Amino acid sequence: MLHPSTHSSTAVNQSPAASTLPSYLQADNLGPWGNYLQQVDRVVPYLGHLAQWAETLRRPKRILIVDVPIHMDDGSIRHFEGYRVQHNTSRGPGKGGVRFHQDVTLSEVMALSAWMSIKNAAVNVPYGGAKGGIRVDPKTLSMGELERMTRRYTSEIGIIIGPTKDIPAPDVNTNEQIMAWMMDTYSMNEGATATGVVTGKPIHLGGSLGRKDATGRGVFTVGVEAAHHIGLEIKGARIAVQGFGNVGGVAGRLFSEAGALVVAVQDHGGTIYKASGLDVPALLKHVAEMGSVAGFAQAEVLPNDQFWDVDCEILIPAALETQITAANAGRIKARMVIEGANGPTTPAADDILQERNILVLPDVIANAGGVTVSYFEWVQDFSSFFWDEDEINARLIKIMKTAFAGIWQVAQEHQVSLRTATFIVGCKRILHARELRGLYP
Ligand code: GLU
Repeated sequence: MLHPSTHSSTAVNQSPAASTLPSYLQADNLGPWGNYLQQVDRVVPYLGHLAQWAETLRRPKRILIVDVPIHMDDGSIRHFEGYRVQHNTSRGPGKGGVRFHQDVTLSEVMALSAWMSIKNAAVNVPYGGAKGGIRVDPKTLSMGELERMTRRYTSEIGIIIGPTKDIPAPDVNTNEQIMAWMMDTYSMNEGATATGVVTGKPIHLGGSLGRKDATGRGVFTVGVEAAHHIGLEIKGARIAVQGFGNVGGVAGRLFSEAGALVVAVQDHGGTIYKASGLDVPALLKHVAEMGSVAGFAQAEVLPNDQFWDVDCEILIPAALETQITAANAGRIKARMVIEGANGPTTPAADDILQERNILVLPDVIANAGGVTVSYFEWVQDFSSFFWDEDEINARLIKIMKTAFAGIWQVAQEHQVSLRTATFIVGCKRILHARELRGLYP
């Protein structure tokens, strides 16, 4: 079994390098960004001579904050705050999603962009890392307001995005319609249709087959690989899923098709449970129609906090960051946690899970299937030649399995967690590119 990293107790504010950071980059409880900085501190001892470039990882290359004013349907004017952060572009253009959520902050987008850098390097797609977001609850907007906000945001970040510069994609509360508006807005401003400026587009607009299911399929693929390593049988395994959208819903479906039992699902509508296994197709239909798991008849309702106590072999957090913390990590019954979400586990919780011998498949590999098929979409757009779904899925599975096998080996070699192992692989690739390119001027 893997052992805890010897550097796991390093407090962020004791790191000499981190203390020289500008104040807005410091970790002092900056939530996800603070967690990311701790993850970087843990990997530095394994970087060899590349450690001299490690400060690169602690500073986003470029941060853009934009004002997004729009006319509301009632005639008033509202201003939204938007962000695009390019964390690193050493290995290629920035790449990462755009999130619309009422809790979006700059520091959250910074962390999400940094995790994209590590993720893209870990699966070896030729991208840096970026992320964007608008602080808004999109459910409060009409379709017209949503379109105007998306278009104005795209126009504002248009100065730094582009098919060879930075390529947005869907994330929490954004979808293929929003990608179509982003593509159109950028193209109108450029005077030429540029399908490669965003991925996750509709199929009829340069989108790729298999993209919608890709993140969930990647979660399933690495989950099956890891289960094999720890002798866990998927058939009959009990699974608890947090978030039943594009990631958790697809992963839940694939695991149940493989014979696992999805016993608990939690989303913003509540928590449902069925010891003998939920009817996943019926639940997916219910969520598509009703917007959440609330009101699903064939299950028992649990108080939200009891989700963490559910008897299961596999836990899949597939919602938002900072869900598994020191406060609930001791209660988790699973043998394996597969991070469909970005940043769901804090470093303190990571240590608790590791001490309890619960294997964590970290976000930076577990949910990399989405961006991997985004890469395929971008390649198809550039070549204007489109692949069939079998080819896409086969290539996705091959990339995920190869990346996971390499990371597993690094974890064994250094006796570190899979998160630190993924950071070792990803950070070495990023910093090696940085070193080869050198500093300009
Ligand atoms: N938002 C997804 C992620 O967090 C996908 C990003 C992309 O396809 O560029 O990985």
